[in-house]
Amino acid sequence: MLDISKVKTPCYVCEEELLENNLKILDYVQKKSGAKILLALKGFAMWSTFDLVGKYLAGTSASGLHEARLGREEMNREVHTYSPAFIEEEIEEIARLSDHIIFNSPNQVKRFLKKVKDANPAISCGLRVNPEQSTAPVDLYNPCAPYSRLGTTLKNFDPDIIEELDGLHFHALCEQNVDALEGVLEAFENKFGEYITGLKWVNFGGGHHITRSDYDVKRLIEVILNFKRRYNDITVYLEPGEAVGWQTGPLVASVLDIVHNGIDIAILDVSAEAHMPDTLAMPYRAEVRGAGKAEEKKYTYRLAGNTCLAGDIMGDYSFDEPLKIGDKVVFEDQIHYTMVKSTTFNGVKHPSIAIWTKDNELKVVREFGYEDFKSRLS
Ligand SMILES: *Cc1c(COP(=O)(O)O)cnc(C)c1O
Repeated sequence: MLDISKVKTPCYVCEEELLENNLKILDYVQKKSGAKILLALKGFAMWSTFDLVGKYLAGTSASGLHEARLGREEMNREVHTYSPAFIEEEIEEIARLSDHIIFNSPNQVKRFLKKVKDANPAISCGLRVNPEQSTAPVDLYNPCAPYSRLGTTLKNFDPDIIEELDGLHFHALCEQNVDALEGVLEAFENKFGEYITGLKWVNFGGGHHITRSDYDVKRLIEVILNFKRRYNDITVYLEPGEAVGWQTGPLVASVLDIVHNGIDIAILDVSAEAHMPDTLAMPYRAEVRGAGKAEEKKYTYRLAGNTCLAGDIMGDYSFDEPLKIGDKVVFEDQIHYTMVKSTTFNGVKHPSIAIWTKDNELKVVREFGYEDFKSRLS
C-alpha cells in the first residue's frame, strides 16, 4: 500500500502492483481470445514502466514519429503507427520504426505506400475506416461524430486500394463497455464486411475500458472469438490506453495556503489546468482521497491550483477535519491522460514522476525544474 507520507509533493505516483494487475487482466483477454493488445501511448506513456508493460502486452500504438520512436526505444515490441496525416519528411523514418502503419485516407495510401514499403519491406499496411456509429459520451472524444476527419467513411472508401493493404482499423469508443463495441462492430461489418476476407488483421482501436471493475471481460472474449470465427481466424488487435493506466495511482499535492472569499479556498501546489487538464477539458471531477462532495462532511473547501488562471479549480470538496497548510491532498487515478498532456504553463513546477514499487519503495524516476520550463520556449 502506497505510503503517502513518503511522497514529496507535487508528485504523480504510479503503483506498480496496480499497473501489473491491469496488465494481467489484459493478458488474460489476449490468452483467451487470441487477440493482441497494444498500449496506446496517447493515454499512457510513462516509459519507466515499459519493461513491465512489455512483459504482458504485444507492443505499442503510436500516433506519429515521436511516439513510434518511444515505443521502439523503450518497449521494443510491435510498433503500430497511425496518424491523421503523415508528413512527407517523416514517413520513411516512421516506416523503419514501425511493424504496422495505418493510413487515414485513400489519398495518404496512394501518396506514401510505395515509400513506406521501400523503407521497410516487412511492414504491414492498413487503412483506418470510420464505421459512422459511436456512442462516445462527448463529441470532443467521439471519433465518429458528424464531420469527423478520423478514418475513411464508406462513401470515401476506394475498393481498389484494399488489394494493397493487410488490414483495416477503426477507433470509435471512449471509456466504454463491450456492448458499445458490439454496436460498432456491427456497423463496421455492415459497411466494410465484404473487404475483410483476405485481410491479415483488423484493429478494433481503443476506448475499451477493460480493466474497469464492471467491464464484461467474458463477453469481450466471446465477441473477439466470434469475429475471428467469421473471418477465417483473422488477427485482432486492440489498442487501449486508458485501460492500461486506469486507477494505477494518484497525483499527490500539498496545501500551500488557505484563503477566504465567501467560501474557504485551499491553494495547492498542483494545477488543474497544467497537471490534470482533462478535469477541465472532459470535464470530470477527480476523486480526492478521504473527501466527500461539498457540504457532505463538516469542512468544505474549494481546491484550487497554483497558476494565475482564474478557472484553475479542481472543485469543492468536504473533509472531516479542517485543512491546514502543509496537509497532503491526494487526487485519485491521475496516471493516464495526465503526464501525456501536462504543460509548464505559467512556469509552475511540474509534478515529479514516481513509482511505488511492489517492495513498497518510492522510486522517483523524474524531477522537473526551471530548465524544463525554459527549454520549450525561446
Ligand atoms: C486515443 C486512441 C486510442 C486509445 O484510446 P483509450 O480511450 O485511451 O483507450 C487508441 N487508438 C486510437 C487511434 C486513438 O486515437
